[in-house]
Amino acid sequence: MSDCIFCKIVNNEIPSKKVYEDDKVLAFYDISPEAPVHIVVIPKEHIQSANELDDNNVYIVSHIFMVIKKIAKELGIAEKGYRVVNNCGEDGGQSVHHLHFHVLGGRSFKWPPG
Ligand code: C5P
Repeated sequence: MSDCIFCKIVNNEIPSKKVYEDDKVLAFYDISPEAPVHIVVIPKEHIQSANELDDNNVYIVSHIFMVIKKIAKELGIAEKGYRVVNNCGEDGGQSVHHLHFHVLGGRSFKWPPG
């Protein structure tokens, strides 16, 4: 999608600090980190939110979680643990309307979230 900021990151129209990339998925450092380690993992295909997952594209979620596992190990947060967050829609606090998973680590987190 031409006006989607994450599609622009995928297309290298906006710079990002990448940590992982393959033909389907990109992971990069969040520009406004909420934890010592804060990575955003996205499908390269534009999927607006978790609400737009269907039988044809849901495979990407399992792939993304395998990428998250790999990144977490490489960035040294796997052992102590980390949080994976998907914000969906207005009440979920989604500000970028391209499906993404936040991976947060390097500190402990409270529950429930605010
Ligand atoms: O879940 P939500 O939509 O709020 O998260 C979007 C995230 O994308 C934010 O954490 C924001 O800092 C991040 N972002 C980014 N690089 C951009 C634009 C947004 O890392 N160029």
